[in-house]
Formats: sequence, structure tokens, C-alpha cells
Amino acid sequence: MLRTENDDMLIVAVCLAATVPKVFHYAVPHGAELVPGQFVLVPFGRKKLSGVIWEKPRPWQENDPPKDKLKSVEQIYDIPALSEENRKFVDWVSSYVMSPQGSVLKLLLSVPDALSPEKPVTGWQVSDKRPSRMTDARQRVFAALLPGMTMRTGDLTEAASVSASTLTSLEKEGALIKSALSAEMLFGKPDPTYSRVQFSNEQAEAVTKLTDNIETRGFQCHLLDGVTGSGKTEVFFEVIAASLTNGKSALILLPEIALTEQLLARFEDRFGCPPALWHSGLTASERRRTWRAVAEGKVKVMIAARSGLFLPWQDLGVIVVDEEHDPGFKQEEGVIYNARDMAVVRGRLADATVILSSATPSLESYVNARDGRYHLVKLPSRHGSAGMPDLSMIDMRIDPPARGQWLSPAMVSSMQDALDRGKQTLLFLNRRGYAPLTLCRNCGHRYACSDCDAWLVEHRSKNIMACHQCGSVRNVPDKCEECGEVDCLTACGPGVERVLEEVGQVFPDKKAAVLSSDMVGQTGELQSQLNLIQSGEIDIIIGTQIIAKGHHFPELGFAGVVDADLGLGNGDLRAAERTYQTLLQVSGRAGREASKGTAMLQSYMPDHPVLKALIAGERDIFLEREAEMRAQSEMPPFGRLAGLVLSGPDIAALNNFSRDLAALIPASDDVRVLGPAPAPIARIRNRYRLRFLIKAGKQAKIQQFIASWLAKTKTPSQIRVAIDIDPYNFL
Ligand code: ADP
Ligand code: ZN
Repeated sequence: MLRTENDDMLIVAVCLAATVPKVFHYAVPHGAELVPGQFVLVPFGRKKLSGVIWEKPRPWQENDPPKDKLKSVEQIYDIPALSEENRKFVDWVSSYVMSPQGSVLKLLLSVPDALSPEKPVTGWQVSDKRPSRMTDARQRVFAALLPGMTMRTGDLTEAASVSASTLTSLEKEGALIKSALSAEMLFGKPDPTYSRVQFSNEQAEAVTKLTDNIETRGFQCHLLDGVTGSGKTEVFFEVIAASLTNGKSALILLPEIALTEQLLARFEDRFGCPPALWHSGLTASERRRTWRAVAEGKVKVMIAARSGLFLPWQDLGVIVVDEEHDPGFKQEEGVIYNARDMAVVRGRLADATVILSSATPSLESYVNARDGRYHLVKLPSRHGSAGMPDLSMIDMRIDPPARGQWLSPAMVSSMQDALDRGKQTLLFLNRRGYAPLTLCRNCGHRYACSDCDAWLVEHRSKNIMACHQCGSVRNVPDKCEECGEVDCLTACGPGVERVLEEVGQVFPDKKAAVLSSDMVGQTGELQSQLNLIQSGEIDIIIGTQIIAKGHHFPELGFAGVVDADLGLGNGDLRAAERTYQTLLQVSGRAGREASKGTAMLQSYMPDHPVLKALIAGERDIFLEREAEMRAQSEMPPFGRLAGLVLSGPDIAALNNFSRDLAALIPASDDVRVLGPAPAPIARIRNRYRLRFLIKAGKQAKIQQFIASWLAKTKTPSQIRVAIDIDPYNFL
């Protein structure tokens, strides 16, 4: 243990990677040389916590805590210090999203184990010596592990489906060699020149613009705005190649784990080795190894979910935010942040090139590009001969489905056409499960979650009813829980499973499958479905939101939207924008390779301006009109919003507290507070919820306003206050 002497005591500010309100001071052990950025271990209460030295050590002063109360830094980890850029990033995010620095550092130091060096990872190689005896299992090992290759134990046992003991026995015979793997071998060295495509003029021009300041290494933010299939991915790969050549690393952020696999394969084709990955599906040891390799500057390119932004990056040259419009970049729990926006902040701090890529840019990014804050780079046409799909509308008032069905005859016949041409078809409905509501035909009882203000959704394939708010499930009862009548439950409205049922009746000899976010997290299930689709074994894909996200289905000839009106009904700020993006993304899935695709929308309100703009292909007119409306009402991006969600188990206490808060709203010229009002979902997990909405001018200091407001009172212990700067979720 390091020791402290009391005379000439130096103290140092340490940011703990923990949900604590501030930075704490510790004594500098005598003789220790501490510099900002070092990772350290310190005592905290009865625990030991990891943290980072946040400021230069300084002499103890009278107004510091008494010397004998100060604890001292216990250990300095042997790992490169966290750079000033990273520390500034933590500070910046912390003050912007109004979470303590420690909470943000905890995001960045998500794998404290990685601070200690790990046991060397071993890899296997074949030697020149053949084993004395060949078995089937051994044969499989040699089929998986080719000469010159090095594989990790887990990868090799999986690839060869053998146990580790097979490998050890081969090692004993000298037929396999076990050796320590270097980070280079683990993470590979992407080769910028490995396999380049021949760019069209349009694409080449985009590359030139995007690589403009790779060499000068200045910050620039670009909006790469190109229709689906225009080559955005190929183009940003080229920018990454340029940055690698220039000695810098690159980070690609995706809104959805399932997309990482697909991009990984393309990356490997382009750069000759896989990128590092970062998402919630990694094992603990993968996380640890990857975190440490980033800290040591050994990761050259990473494909990551939003949390990849919070890694100890050293030398970022490029950050790509793919599908930048996607709400999946918003983290809604704990530290509430938008990874797209924070990527721009990080890019500025790192003097990096930031590329926001989308076929349907968010209104924020569109306006930023229009007004010259971002550089606009366009790819207006599909690569090669593929044209954009023909998009048309089905007026459900004129051409309705049969009773109890959801697909209009026009939709069915277009699907039939595509299937006859040997193409795959896709149906989109953003509703998981069989039906969004179940009721009793006898007594009218509606099945709701006992802990939330939400209906239970039947999932017939699993014979359960689930609450989509808290995740609780129950079996489907065989008699009504209210009146006791048997066989009286009726499903109301369609979910994807119900559409699957109908598809089974209409196309009995075709193979159909559901893709939904229910599968995310179940390791491999979504991926194996996607593989079946890629290999052409599925004719009809029925999917929720998840299929609107960048998946590449080369054989898709038709995309149908079962309920185009679904998103338009909710009065949320982004309802129109989100509907437009989703529907355009879904229809963009059709006809990506040589042949042209078709897409159809079923609607009961085909005259709705959003749908009309979509059919007319007037994206920019739509965006301009939407921008105009937001500008008039001073809504984002022309004004600022923040949400304040109060929640607690006792409704009376919650109401009291909200009234107290309402009485304390600070006076301000450019900030208005609306509410409190019950949140649209007024109860989740037995906690009641009230909302304030804070609306401010573009230049208003909304964080300062909230801080001074909340400082006026103490929040009762049962009540939580969640601050959401730039909210996307208004529920
Ligand atoms: P986006 O990211 O805009 O959807 P992609 O980069 O995925 O577009 O390109 C769509 C398809 O066209 C991919 O299969 C891609 O490999 C191919 N492609 C795009 N540009 C080229 C090119 N210049 N040469 C060869 N293939 C290309
Ligand atoms: Zn619930």
C-alpha cells in the first residue's frame, strides 16, 4: 500500500466511476507522481472504487477536509492515462445531460476489471507434426484450423465442435502449438488497400469531399445523405481507409446490434480482417479485452452500439453514425443521452471527421446541413442499374380487406406478383405479438398489466400475454378472469403474429417468418432468421421496426406496409418525421439489386400530407414543410426541450412534490415550463409518473434553469427525478 505523510500534504481530485454527486479529494501518497488521467483505486466508505485523477495534485489548504480525514490514493493502474480529450468529453457530456461526472465516467469505465492486465490469451496453430492417430474430432480441428492461422480456444472448439480436451491432447502429441496472442492478432490490422471498389463519379466526388480534411486533421461534420443502396457504406469505408492510412482509428456507430453482423462481413471483405466489436452481446472477457485494447490504442476500427462512444479512445480520426436518424441512438435510462449528438461533440474534441449517414436524415441534421453547420454530401441515385422502388397507396376505404383480415386484395395480388417472379416479399407492421388488446366478449373486460398503465399483448406463439412496458408475462387464461366465462377472449387488432397467420392462409405453400425485436437479446435467434432470409429460404418476411433498419435483403421484390397510419396518430413532436422515415426505409428495402421493386402502403387516410409527400417522392419538400412548422412553434431544432419525469410509488406524495416544484419554477424570459401532467403512461412497474415539459429558446441556458430550479427544494427519498435533455420519448 502507498503511504501518505502529513507534512506538505498534496491532495488530488479523483473522479470516481460511480453514481456519486461530485469529484472527491484524496491525499497523494508520499513520493507518488500523480498526473491527470491516471486510473487509480481509492477507498470510498467501506468499498474500493476505481476512478481517474481529474486535476493536477495541489497543496492541502485550510478549507480542504481535515488532513486526518483524508484518505489516500491506494493504487495506480498500469495502463495508459485517460487523455485530456476523454476527460473533457466526460465533463462536457456530464454538464450537458445533467448527470454527475462520475456517472458519465462509469459509462466510460464500464469494465473496471480491464484496468488490471489480463492473463495472456492463448491461440492455437498447427505444427508440421501430424498426430499419431486421426479421429473424426481431430479431423474437424484440422479442417477448421488451416496452416498459418491462429485461433482462440473458444473459437476453435466452436468451429470444430470439439471439446478443449481434444486440443490439449493434440498439443501433447506436438500436433498443435499453443501460444500467447498479441492484441494485433486479436484485433487485426485492417488493410486500407485490401479490396477497393470502382467508384461512380458521384461516389468519388462524395469521397473527395468527405476526406477533405483527413490529412489536416481538423474537425468537420458531414451529413451523408443518400438513398438506400447508393453506396453510403462503400463511401464511408473509403473515408475510414484514408484515416487508417493517416494513422488514426475509426469508430462506426449503429443503432442496433443485429446490424453489426452484416456490416462486419462487409468490412472484412473490404479491409481483409474483422473490426473490433462493441455491444451488449459480448462476453465479459471479450468486453474486457476490447476495452483494454482501446485504452492501449490497439483497436484500429470498431463497429459499435451507441456505448462504443464511451470508450477510452486515443486517436480517433473518423466517427461514422450510420442510420443517424434512428431513435436507437438515444439512451433512455441512467445517463440519458443521444449518441448521435454526443458523437459530434466527441468528434469536435478529437479534431475528427464525423459522418452522419442516412437515407432519411433527421430533421435536426437536415436543418444543420441546410444552414451550413454541417457539410452536405449527397448520393442521389442507387448504385448500378437498381432503381428506386415504385411506391403506391392502397386506400383501405375503397379496397378493404375481408372481415377479420388485415391485407387488402390489392396488397395480396402485388405480393403474389413478386412471389411469382421468384422474389421475396416483406410486410411491415410495427406491433409485436398477436394482438395489442385482448378483451372478454361476454363482460367486456380488457386485460391490462397489474403494475403498469398498459394493455397486455397476446403472444400466441408462446401462449402468453405480455406487458410491453415492464416485460411481465402471464399465461393466456382459459376463462375470463373477470366473469369466469370460458372461450370468450377476443383479440383486437393485428400484431405481426396475426399477420403471419393470415399470410399462412393466403399463401399456404410459401414459407413465412416473423422478425421482431422480441428476438433481440436471444442470442443468435435474430441472426439465424436473417441468415435464412439471405439464403432465400424464406419467401415472406413479416417484421416490426427492426426491419426498417438498414438490413440488406438482396432478393426482396416487394415491401408492404400493413398500417401506414399507425405512427401518425400519436401527437408526439416527431410523429410525422418518424412515420416518414420508417415508411421510406421500409419501402427502400425492396429492389436493391438489379431488378426494380415495388412498395405499397395501406392507409385509411391516404390524403394525410405525410403520406402524400411520401408517395410523391418529395422528401425535401416534406422536410422543409416540417421544418417550417417546427420553426413557427419554436420546437426543436429551432427551440429547445427538456423533460422532467417524476416518479414514485405513492401518488399523493408525488402530487404534493410536483405541486411544490411547480410553485418554485424560476422566472425566465426565454424558458417556459408546462405541467405537471400525468405522463401518457401514468404508471410503470407500480411507480406513478408525472411530467414537466421545459420549452426554451434556441439560445436559452436550459440546464442552468433546471439546475437552479431543482436546487430550490429537496427531492423526497421515494421520488425519482429524471432529466431528459432533448427528449425523444414523450411517454
Ligand atoms: P447504402 O449504404 O447507401 O445503402 P451500400 O454501400 O450498401 O449502400 O451499397 C449498396 C450495394 O451496392 C452494396 O451491395 C454495395 O456493395 C454495392 N455498391 C455500391 N457502390 C458500389 C461500387 N462503386 N462498386 C461496386 N459495388 C457497389
Ligand atoms: Zn407492466
